[in-house]
Amino acid sequence: MNTNLTVLCQPDENKSCGACCGLYNYTDSSCASLVRRLRERRRRFRRLVKAPGDIGCYTDATFSCEDFTPRYEVIYCCEYLGFLDETEKRVGCLLHPLQNFGLDLRTCSFYGQETCAGHICPSHHFIPANQAQSLIKIIDNWYLYGLCLTDIDLVVCYFRLLADSIGEELKPEVFDEEVFKKIAREFFNWKINWPFRSEEINRLGKYYFDGSQYMISYIDYAKLGREISSYDKIFMSLSSVFKNAPEMETAENLLRDNVQRFAAAYRIRF
Ligand code: SF4
Ligand code: SF4
Repeated sequence: MNTNLTVLCQPDENKSCGACCGLYNYTDSSCASLVRRLRERRRRFRRLVKAPGDIGCYTDATFSCEDFTPRYEVIYCCEYLGFLDETEKRVGCLLHPLQNFGLDLRTCSFYGQETCAGHICPSHHFIPANQAQSLIKIIDNWYLYGLCLTDIDLVVCYFRLLADSIGEELKPEVFDEEVFKKIAREFFNWKINWPFRSEEINRLGKYYFDGSQYMISYIDYAKLGREISSYDKIFMSLSSVFKNAPEMETAENLLRDNVQRFAAAYRIRF
């Protein structure tokens, strides 16, 4: 188990994660839309909240000017998530004591102070520490970081493919070198720009919402006339939809090529 909780949530000055606070649960969770939302919240909070009693003003103002329509009803979109810094590199809790001269204001949150302060998401349990540290080195922006960190299948399957291709476990230090970082970043960027990505707003990775509950999606390989792909879990994480078998083969080739390029570069370097 990876116990580096603080490292995964706020790993460095260049990025952080806010996924469990509902960051990606807005019907428009595009990067541009979230930047506007988080920027305004930070400014509004700084302008309106001078003492704990002012939080209500901030909350009212935020609910009155933002669209809180969620992608999934069961996940709360927290109004206190915002940019933590002027440079807008880190997203996080505006009620956190580090943002408020040591005062913990999370008592007024939807989940309550105890839950907000103590939550440990499954990524801490299921992503091995060396893979989490590698991810931190590869990804340098909050939007992509949170999306990938919380997609356990995506992370674990990719690092497994890389390890199998080079015949050993990867050390995080490998990703200090730009050549490896670049190839891995190409892969993780597919979480945003994958050519076969479903555009349905109720779809997030392998999950979709049918109007009453959220369920795990699947690819109908029989309809495509193909066996289940060895990249199936990655395809699901990337919200893939294929119109036909050639599209699926193109997708497989993209993944295969990425892994092969990594292995070739690794053999030259090590
Ligand atoms: S989703 Fe996990 S890593 Fe992200 S902020 Fe929540 S607990 Fe931290
Ligand atoms: S109050 Fe809780 S849910 Fe809201 S941003 Fe802070 S930690 Fe996240």
